[in-house]
Amino acid sequence: MFIVFKRYTHSFLATCISVVSTLFYVLGGFIAIGYILDLEGLRRDMSLVEAILAAAVFILIGFGAMKLAERVALRKQKKLAVRAGASRQAAGGQAASRPAQSHQAASTQRPAPISGDFCPKCGLRHEPGDAFCARCGAKL
Ligand SMILES: [Zn+2]
Repeated sequence: MFIVFKRYTHSFLATCISVVSTLFYVLGGFIAIGYILDLEGLRRDMSLVEAILAAAVFILIGFGAMKLAERVALRKQKKLAVRAGASRQAAGGQAASRPAQSHQAASTQRPAPISGDFCPKCGLRHEPGDAFCARCGAKL
């Protein structure tokens, strides 16, 4: 006899079905073992065929429930994955729109450049009429 109870994360329903399936396995196994060991006069109440059938039915139901639990858990996982993807996308969209907004704000806040040119060597701003850079002395 095997205990196949599995705890499915994120899916309470799948866990419940899994528990029920395990119960059926246990019942099927109990009938088989009970019949073999002749517990509580089981052999008197049941024929061999009946016992085998009962055990087989219970184990089959247990197997079916197990498969169902797996499918339910899988579907739930997919749904969660889709939801996570959607929320990630939404977060990405927000993140993408935020820098655009801050960029816009920065460009509007930036003071207008004062008239003048920049030194080609050091980049210092100088007045239009200057012949030499005040910092590095480069010819302008
Ligand atoms: Zn310079």
